[in-house]
Amino acid sequence: MNAPGLAQRLERSGLSRRDFLSFCASMAAVLGLPDTAGQAIAAAVENEAKPILIWLEFQDCAGNSESLLRAGHPTVADLILDEISLSYHEMLMAAAGSQAEQVLSETVRDNAGKYIVLVEGSIPAGADGAYCTIGGKSALQIARDICGKAAATIAVGTCAAFGGIPAARPNPTGAMSVGDAVPGVANLINMSACPANAENITALIIYYMTMKRWPPLDQYRRPLFAYGKSIHDSCERRAHFDAGQYVEEWGDDAHRHGHCLYKMGCKGPATSQNCPIVKWNEGTNWPIGCGHPCIGCAEPNFWDTMTPFYQRLPNVAGFDVGNWVDPVGLGLTGLVTAAVAMHGIGEVVRHRAGEKSSDNSGSENE
Ligand code: SF4
Repeated sequence: MNAPGLAQRLERSGLSRRDFLSFCASMAAVLGLPDTAGQAIAAAVENEAKPILIWLEFQDCAGNSESLLRAGHPTVADLILDEISLSYHEMLMAAAGSQAEQVLSETVRDNAGKYIVLVEGSIPAGADGAYCTIGGKSALQIARDICGKAAATIAVGTCAAFGGIPAARPNPTGAMSVGDAVPGVANLINMSACPANAENITALIIYYMTMKRWPPLDQYRRPLFAYGKSIHDSCERRAHFDAGQYVEEWGDDAHRHGHCLYKMGCKGPATSQNCPIVKWNEGTNWPIGCGHPCIGCAEPNFWDTMTPFYQRLPNVAGFDVGNWVDPVGLGLTGLVTAAVAMHGIGEVVRHRAGEKSSDNSGSENE
């Protein structure tokens, strides 16, 4: 019996063709492609052989798998990733134990050099890999074996991409990123964030299916379509930053009116990702939209370099740095610091202009 076509699978999931085409258009938008690319994406998803995906899970909290699943109702993205091409995912597959391991070894044996492996979680190398073992093998052995035979490896989430929280000081398990654990792995792509955004993961796979190549990457091997701009560049509160309108304490008037969270510790100026555009939970909202500062989770070593989370980025011209300087912001690029410094200077100029005006008028100018 032939496997059901996409139309039947959509119907079974309660999705219409219109839903599917709208999904393709939204993927084109996430990828920064013109509207017309939606048709090419639809054709690729419908007609091209689906890439075989293997999802490995190591030292992690399963947050990326949760992000992928999202819950609620099945979306087209779930359908594409879960029902069409995902061959192995410990948490999602029905098989368990030796049966599951057999599925993995057969998938790798039959598709060596062709499958794509997605890795979630860091890889602990301490104690000969004893901190994370599956089926009697260490995460390090499994990663080197499975990633070593893959056409491409996608490190999903900051733990896999950069070591994440497990690798934060003092890193008791010797946790490392996939790139460090499997040096020279082919076509490594880092999809950082804690967790990675499911829209971006889906868009990456869709891009590969449509273009037959991987997208351009930044210096940390992250796709430019998702990490090419800072959070600050696209933030809905940016006008308030530029106007010098800052939240000074939780629940104050500025907070209730959606003003900038920079002084409450926002790391948006030092963090690159498309959160303000793609958002989360099918575009419902995102942390800054809910009134919480960005914590910089998509950046390397964020747990060491972006904390304390509720204190503002240091060494910014025009602001009172306070008594702490280290370790926050040690990883900031000169460009970002300079950009923020310019705004800081702008605020001081505005503030001083306000003081002057206040002196002249006798009224306080915020
Ligand atoms: S500092 Fe944070 S809240 Fe303010 S504009 Fe930048 S990203 Fe948005």
